[in-house]
Amino acid sequence: MTVRGLPGADLCVHCGFCTQACPTYLTLDDENDSPRGRIVLMKALAKGGFSAEDESLMLSHLDNCLGCRACETACPSGVPYGELLEAVRADTLSQRPLQFVSRLILFVFARPALLRLAMLKVRLIRATGLSRLLARMPGRLGIACATLETTRRPSHGIERRLPRPAVARPAIGPDPAKPSPAAAREAEARAHVAVLTGCVMEGLLAPVNRATERVLSRNGYEVVSAPGQRCCGALHAHAGQEAAAQELARINIAAFEASRAEFIAVNSAGCGAAMKEYGRLLAGSPEWRERAMAMAARVRDVSELLADAGPEPAAAATDAAVAVDHPCHLLHAQRLSEPPARVLAAMQGLNARELPDAVDCCGSAGLFSLAQPGLSQRILAPKLENIRKCGASVVVTGNPGCMMHIGAGLLRSGSPAVTRHPVELLDDAYSARSAQ
Ligand code: SF4
Ligand code: SF4
Repeated sequence: MTVRGLPGADLCVHCGFCTQACPTYLTLDDENDSPRGRIVLMKALAKGGFSAEDESLMLSHLDNCLGCRACETACPSGVPYGELLEAVRADTLSQRPLQFVSRLILFVFARPALLRLAMLKVRLIRATGLSRLLARMPGRLGIACATLETTRRPSHGIERRLPRPAVARPAIGPDPAKPSPAAAREAEARAHVAVLTGCVMEGLLAPVNRATERVLSRNGYEVVSAPGQRCCGALHAHAGQEAAAQELARINIAAFEASRAEFIAVNSAGCGAAMKEYGRLLAGSPEWRERAMAMAARVRDVSELLADAGPEPAAAATDAAVAVDHPCHLLHAQRLSEPPARVLAAMQGLNARELPDAVDCCGSAGLFSLAQPGLSQRILAPKLENIRKCGASVVVTGNPGCMMHIGAGLLRSGSPAVTRHPVELLDDAYSARSAQ
């Protein structure tokens, strides 16, 4: 087995500060499933000289890693764990073939025509109610159906699960639909923004994308289109399909350059984290390196853009108890906690509080919940229990994978709580204000 050099692995001083942040170590209680243990395994793999059986065992511990990067936040030495993991997974891809379902998803997500067809079929399953019917089935089929069911939105015309206030709230603050002359002048100065529509977001959660566009417009940004954009490639990079991730990055760079947007707004934490790292992904390509770095510098999570703009306040459109959870790729990979908090604070009267384990991974991690459903569900269980204990009806989180994984867990456990993206709540608040 050939594993490239592992720049940054030698920064590890084996202090173990990362272990208590690692969901797989805390769940499996095995040093080989901790960040520190995995770094030792990576270095050993790079050194070589092991039997195929030993290599296979070592790789299984690397496969158990969610790639949540909580270890990076905890590490005082600055070990670039996510980068190391992606490099090792890319170099060992031929020794650890991905499961068929993972390969199929990655193949389809990289091909727009196939992706559109696949999403159409999945939406049909949702529209017929089949996903609702099978959501409590045991095993992967039930989990998949419950996951799909969480993407249902009122605008899909079938189900209305988001609790609404029993009485209309009085208007608080200025009407965002009618900006003051000063606000209008300020709005003119704001930037042109292209929204990453994404694969799962546009395919199954298009209302979240429309809400994103509306709240950006309401906060003075001019939303422009970026035709030709594709899946960001995050899933491919995490799975070790480096060449596919690079190809998708190149296509996206060209598409967003053509849009002439100053910023690229991303409402999916995992996608935003991957796009902010396009410079590293294409560092080996002299032709693309500079363009990739320039593109990465323009990428913003939607909460960053909204926080820069204020955002405009409005009365919350729901009086439900809201629990706040932090997506790992927002908190640990992008190191963003304040902008999402400011988005929620813009909703006056919102009954929101942070989950006790809000900084802990939910177990979704892209394809992980499909590839390792058992471990993924064990990691999710404490979060579901915390949601139950705090009595929340709505859980907000800024990543589609987390929304779907937590939402599916809630649905399958019989909880009436639902998951929502923060911009959906803000959009509801603006809509309710405009309707008054
Ligand atoms: S990325 Fe997450 S699961 Fe993997 S070693 Fe780090 S903390 Fe543990
Ligand atoms: S916290 Fe950082 S330096 Fe310490 S063991 Fe973990 S990865 Fe190594």
